[in-house]
Amino acid sequence: MTHDTIKTDFLVIGGGIAGVSAAYHLAAEGHAIVLETEDVCGHHSTGRSAAIFSEHHGPEIICDLALASKSFFENPYDGFTETPFLSKRGVIFTGDASQQDAMDKMLAGSRDGDGALREISSDEVKALVPVINQDVIARGIYYEGGREIDVHAVHQGWIRGLKKRGGEVHTSQELLSATFDNDVWTVKTRNKTYEANYIINASGAWADVIAERCGVQKVGLVPKKRTVITVPVSDDYDDYHWPMVIFTDGKLYFKSEKGAIMASPMDETVVEPMDAWADNMDMAVTADLVEKRTNIDVTKLINHWAGLRSFVFDDIPVVGPTPDNDRFIWLAGQGGYGIKTCDAMGRIATALTLGRDLPDDVKKLGITKESLGAERCIKHLKEAV
Ligand SMILES: Cc1cc2nc3c(=O)[nH]c(=O)nc-3n(C[C@H](O)[C@H](O)[C@H](O)COP(=O)(O)OP(=O)(O)OC[C@H]3O[C@@H](n4cnc5c(N)ncnc54)[C@H](O)[C@@H]3O)c2cc1C
Repeated sequence: MTHDTIKTDFLVIGGGIAGVSAAYHLAAEGHAIVLETEDVCGHHSTGRSAAIFSEHHGPEIICDLALASKSFFENPYDGFTETPFLSKRGVIFTGDASQQDAMDKMLAGSRDGDGALREISSDEVKALVPVINQDVIARGIYYEGGREIDVHAVHQGWIRGLKKRGGEVHTSQELLSATFDNDVWTVKTRNKTYEANYIINASGAWADVIAERCGVQKVGLVPKKRTVITVPVSDDYDDYHWPMVIFTDGKLYFKSEKGAIMASPMDETVVEPMDAWADNMDMAVTADLVEKRTNIDVTKLINHWAGLRSFVFDDIPVVGPTPDNDRFIWLAGQGGYGIKTCDAMGRIATALTLGRDLPDDVKKLGITKESLGAERCIKHLKEAV
């Protein structure tokens, strides 16, 4: 069967938060199409996150990229949303006596204003999060400026904005192969052919698979699976809007919902790119940790899932052209932070696609093209051989 070739300036691979935010910004500069394998966008990591905006979680550059995205979340672009994207959700970092050094180090990183951290006693932690088991905590660090993100609204806002700019989203279209000739990419899916001036690789855990299919060097992306369960909480409480609790030993976090908590053992199981699911052992470990660190008896699960967080060797995202072809742009490796950093990442990917400098607000934070570029990963892979 023959079919027409679809032409575009920017072909963005992946309809998760990364792909749609980049496509929105690119659509101001030319025609953009998002290609998504699944029949809906957001089915993979984007639909499975803990939805937290924090200036204090992750490597320094991630915290800076979150800061550079904050004004978008607070004041979304015109027509993006009728309701606010962010709601207040404090975060308490806590642990037992063995965690004192880690907590002191964290306190030293307190920022001004919304980013401020303050030390609180274990009694204060208990008052704020009544289900906590006070025996397992020595004290807490309270980050009152933490926020919860309405991920669905943000994701849909990007898609709506993209379409208003004349962009398109093509679902059920998997990039199967791509060739680059005379400065044009020809991309094949099962039933369509696309021609594009640029490919933007925002395919999450599959980013190295896409590189291989496009014939460019991989960056060594490692998808890591993280498990989440939700369990019921007694209905004795008047209010369930407690701060999220993150144990600094990296073994558990939990966040309340009405009549329940969602909890994760913060696992990082290395896997192939896949439609991830929670396995029984990981769910049992999570339930056990919840029972030890809270006063909740886990009698049943309301829900469970797993999602992939994908990293390169230094846990810093990869954004910008690949060294062997400046028409192939990386936008990958966001790890556990791709939602809160999406606006800055979309703007950076757009600037670097067009051969421009980084946006001024990003540059002011001390972020450089080199610190995000694919070259460092390729160099690292060569040295490791
Ligand atoms: C449990 C968990 C908790 C998290 N909590 C937070 C949090 O609190 N805050 C935060 O900021 N981040 C958080 N994250 C991280 C965040 O979810 C990710 O960084 C982000 O969703 C990555 O977005 P993405 O668009 O790169 O990937 P994805 O959402 O996975 O999108 C990639 C898309 O590419 C598509 N694709 C793949 N191959 C092809 C192909 N050949 N052709 C076409 N399409 C293709 C896939 O189908 C997929 O839809 C969390 C993640 C997990 C798993």
